Amino acid sequence: MTPRTLLATLMLLSACAPASEQGPPTEPAAETLPVGPTVSVDEVADDVFLFTYNTHRSLFIVTDDGVLVTDPQSTEAAERYLEEVRKVTDAPIQYLVYSHYHNDHVSGGAIFGDDVVTVSHENVTAHLDDEGMEAVKPPDETFTDEMTLTIGDIDVDLSFPGHSETDSNIILHVPSRRLAFMVDTLSVRTLPWRNLASGDLDGWIGALETLADYDVDQFVPGHGEIGSRDDVRAHIEYLRTLTGEVATRMDDGQSLQAIQNSLELPQYADWVRYDEHFALNIEGVYRELTEQRQ
Ligand SMILES: [Zn+2]
Repeated sequence: MTPRTLLATLMLLSACAPASEQGPPTEPAAETLPVGPTVSVDEVADDVFLFTYNTHRSLFIVTDDGVLVTDPQSTEAAERYLEEVRKVTDAPIQYLVYSHYHNDHVSGGAIFGDDVVTVSHENVTAHLDDEGMEAVKPPDETFTDEMTLTIGDIDVDLSFPGHSETDSNIILHVPSRRLAFMVDTLSVRTLPWRNLASGDLDGWIGALETLADYDVDQFVPGHGEIGSRDDVRAHIEYLRTLTGEVATRMDDGQSLQAIQNSLELPQYADWVRYDEHFALNIEGVYRELTEQRQ
């Protein structure tokens, strides 16, 4: 493995990890040449852009009157994010919307300045002192179930479909662009991160079912590829299949370790992170089912 592919692999492995779930920091080999972040900006629908910084993605919406940005990610990422927005428009940044509370998405918001109105689900606020948070701009406005923001002539509907990957992941829907953005709860042909540590299994499936009913053409996640409705349904099917298989083995009295040693779902072997996180996904489902059965 060349140093460059090693680094790319390390970056992929560190995708989406809140600091509290990460292992010890991974030091690149001494001979590795410094490599800058991988940054891109893609216009995925009229006036709607996706900012990619290494493995993290944030959506921003540009109008002549103002700009709506999401997830600053980190101070370093947010500085670059702001530069990239400024290449597209000089309009003021009006709203900063947090997708959920994990530190690798909300950190760095202070870079966008005091005039930006920060918006999130109400449950984000309780986590702003979590480990790994940096330069977070606290929410100025929060909501419980839903809220609509208007940026220029574009309506942006925010809604909370219940506890899924965390108790604060929201759906950001742009009806006029037929697009919905949901971070971490939604991933495309990709296993959920590790052991679903802050998740709720039934709520996660329910949130994806809600998402799948949106009348949109693009389902945009915060990591990886944009998906279709079929991709959302495939993710639901994965969670249901995994839950069913783990439940059957628990009914037979198998231990977590026995289930991890025997259970495979080869139909998902080509999904991103299957090799790294399948055993951890089993652990998360086992933990949830154990709690439900108590
Ligand atoms: Zn997350």
